[in-house]
Amino acid sequence: MTRRKLIAGNWKMNTSLEEADELARAIAAHDYGAPNNVDLAVCPPFPWLVPVRDAIAGSGIALGAQNCSHLPNGAVTGEVSVQMLSGLCRFVIVGHSERRSLFAESNEIIRRKLDAILGVGLTPILCVGESIGIRRQGAAAEHVVSQLSAVLVGRSPDEIRHCVIAYEPIWAIGTGVAASASDAEEMALTIRSSLDSLFPGNGDDVRILYGGSVTPANSLETLSQQNVDGALVGGASLKADLFLAIAGSVSG
Ligand code: PEP
Repeated sequence: MTRRKLIAGNWKMNTSLEEADELARAIAAHDYGAPNNVDLAVCPPFPWLVPVRDAIAGSGIALGAQNCSHLPNGAVTGEVSVQMLSGLCRFVIVGHSERRSLFAESNEIIRRKLDAILGVGLTPILCVGESIGIRRQGAAAEHVVSQLSAVLVGRSPDEIRHCVIAYEPIWAIGTGVAASASDAEEMALTIRSSLDSLFPGNGDDVRILYGGSVTPANSLETLSQQNVDGALVGGASLKADLFLAIAGSVSG
């Protein structure tokens, strides 16, 4: 099956309203070279979702949120429900390592967030990835597979096909040290095989992204790997020219 590549920008807790508007318009205005074989998405901070939605209207670029609540609504100060996001955006990032470490998000909470996201028909970008210590122990694949099965076991094949998985080794996030293209491919293949053994016949349909210090200097090689279906981009997504160059490096 042919999987369209997806390049998603995670703006994290960056940009003023003016910067967000300018960045979104610059990305939307530009021809990124391969509109027929690559999807683009931007994930701004919550308060900028509406203005960024307006700035990218009609461009074909999708909108994503960086987080959501695992709870439906009500007395939950400071949280944002999936109901609020549905109709506004298409993607929701879930399980990012920054949320796992800074906000102690457990697999149980991530599982409940996934339930909520899939329940309203949004598309999760589920992040998994190992620390440097785990990689050095030779346990990276085992760790990633256990993160996946903790939140995916018991779901329907339909739900699985609806998920995007992002392999984001923690040691590569924001460090300038990306995984090599071959390491990214090896883990993407491990993830696909694990999905296929949990949900026979469905692994091939799932888009698996790589994330961690992706730049135009390494994107061409990484994105040309057979099982790497795109990138989740942090730092380089804050500069329109870098983000567009990464998108433009999708061959195909
Ligand atoms: C991220 O945090 O999702 C990420 C990939 O960040 P960076 O590209 O800055 O490493």
